[in-house]
Amino acid sequence: MIIPKTREEIELMRESALIVSKTLGMLAGEIKPGITTLQLDKLAETFIRDHGAVPGFLGLYGCPSTLLTSVNEQVVHGLPNNRPIEDGDIVSVDCGALKNEFYGDHAYTFEVGEVAPETKKLLQVTKESLYVGIREFRVGNRVEDVGNAIQKYTEAEGYGVVRELVGHGLGRKMHEDPEMPNYGKRGRGKLFIEGMVVAIEPMINMGTKNVRQLKDGWTIVTRDGKPSAHFEHNVALINGRPELLSTYAYIYKALGIESDEENEFRREPLAV
Ligand code: MG
Ligand code: MG
Repeated sequence: MIIPKTREEIELMRESALIVSKTLGMLAGEIKPGITTLQLDKLAETFIRDHGAVPGFLGLYGCPSTLLTSVNEQVVHGLPNNRPIEDGDIVSVDCGALKNEFYGDHAYTFEVGEVAPETKKLLQVTKESLYVGIREFRVGNRVEDVGNAIQKYTEAEGYGVVRELVGHGLGRKMHEDPEMPNYGKRGRGKLFIEGMVVAIEPMINMGTKNVRQLKDGWTIVTRDGKPSAHFEHNVALINGRPELLSTYAYIYKALGIESDEENEFRREPLAV
């Protein structure tokens, strides 16, 4: 059952989402060759607690960490470890925070140093597909309209859309109804309703769509060993239209990137 949120609840959810956004912005300045994902995890945990929130993943389904860090061919759910990040890697960082009983859940794939042009393109197209999907999240549309848009946009580049993992409703639980697959047929699935909040999160592989899980019981990797990208925003339906609760503005500020990609999904400019 989809649980719509009141305006007050959505404002609380914005607070949770922005704590995650700020955490990712802090990490953007730290992700360099030589640092380990375990070091990033400790930085993130301290940052979240310093902002009056609790790490959203830690302990959830037995998750041992604050972040899920997925490097190169790792798709999602990589566990932070002691391997130093290397020049040319890509690192998908997925982070959750719980505050005022509501979750934020938000992810970005970072480039480390000089990344191969074809990998840069994978990241760019995957992030663009996130917004292509968000555009379809409006009252009157259905769940698979979002997935269909993401699938079309990314398959046009020859990429593989992961089937086993999906986006989701978000609220007092990390995973609420509905499931939000990144593939599908137009006009199918549950109807979107005013006040609902979802995590839209394309997971896109450069090669095959097929994935497998490592023996650690967590890490999902591509079957062909080619890279994979993951971008995730939290979005509320307000006045029938999608509005972003999360933002990449803190990341872009840290990295010196100019972007207006979020403007169409915001009622008022964000002060960062
Ligand atoms: Mg996530
Ligand atoms: Mg999620």
